[in-house]
Amino acid sequence: MHLDSLTDTFHRRHDYLRISLTDACNLRCTYCMPNEKMQVTPSSKLMQAEEIKHIAATFVELGVKKIRLTGGEPLLRKDVRKILRLLATLDVELAISTNAVLVNEYIADLKSANIASVNVSLDTLNAEEFFAITKRNDFGKILSNIHLLLSNGFKVKINMVVMKDINTQAILDFIEWTKEFPLEVRFIEFMPFKGNGWQQDAVFFAIDALKLISTKYDYVKLEDRAESTSRNYKVIGHKGSFGFISTITEPFCDSCNRLRLTADGKMKNCLFDRGETDLLTALRKGEDILPLIQKSVQNKKLQRGGLFDSMNEAAAFHENRTMISIGG
Ligand code: SF4
Repeated sequence: MHLDSLTDTFHRRHDYLRISLTDACNLRCTYCMPNEKMQVTPSSKLMQAEEIKHIAATFVELGVKKIRLTGGEPLLRKDVRKILRLLATLDVELAISTNAVLVNEYIADLKSANIASVNVSLDTLNAEEFFAITKRNDFGKILSNIHLLLSNGFKVKINMVVMKDINTQAILDFIEWTKEFPLEVRFIEFMPFKGNGWQQDAVFFAIDALKLISTKYDYVKLEDRAESTSRNYKVIGHKGSFGFISTITEPFCDSCNRLRLTADGKMKNCLFDRGETDLLTALRKGEDILPLIQKSVQNKKLQRGGLFDSMNEAAAFHENRTMISIGG
């Protein structure tokens, strides 16, 4: 067994794989989906269910302990039940990130796949603001599905992308929501991806969000797991907690344990890595994908794919993919 195949030159061990199942979505979030008419990848170019299982099994054999399914919107895949069943046979913790629009149709499937943790992307608790950000009217459905997940015993984390002058006031609404519900709300700094119109001054810094919260709430700092992407806090007396994913202002790359697989079978050793490794084509040619995985891990940069050394590298972000075709 190749124990150090997933350890990079900075001695970071990668035991968490994020697998995107599709770049299709039923929402049109401005910071993710560049435009309404974006072409989605045809299914012939997507990893098929057995191919996903084969590649995932290879990573599990190398030491991956957790697999998170992402998209686009993963529950849009017609064969998602088959994928869940196949992956549930592996000795790995399974989790999923979803916009929760369709979750009510998959509660039993998520349970049979032993999925205990569900991350839901939601950027406001205001229906009009929701429509402005997503161009869809699914706010009510998502809210009731989040409560359905909680009432079915799932651990629910809320991922909110904070955009200055767009939804910053929603931060306090989410904090208030943690009073009665055991939700883990994470405020994510707006990140640059191809076509999402990112500007440095559109980023609402984590420190400013914390200042906003402290105008109304007393909170304590929680202890964070070494590889945690978020820095977590809890308002005294609240059932839930909140945290910050601050890739722009306080990156957490030193303890990064994440690798990614895009829906069309490309390995990314970092969210901002522009050099992808095509595992699917190699697999379909009957070639060994292990050396490709090892090489990708060895090529991993220390921080943010080697970007951000200067904030003006906007052009470089466009060499990367769109957010929707990476899966966050
Ligand atoms: S930016 Fe890249 S290296 Fe840093 S935490 Fe994210 S995936 Fe890991």
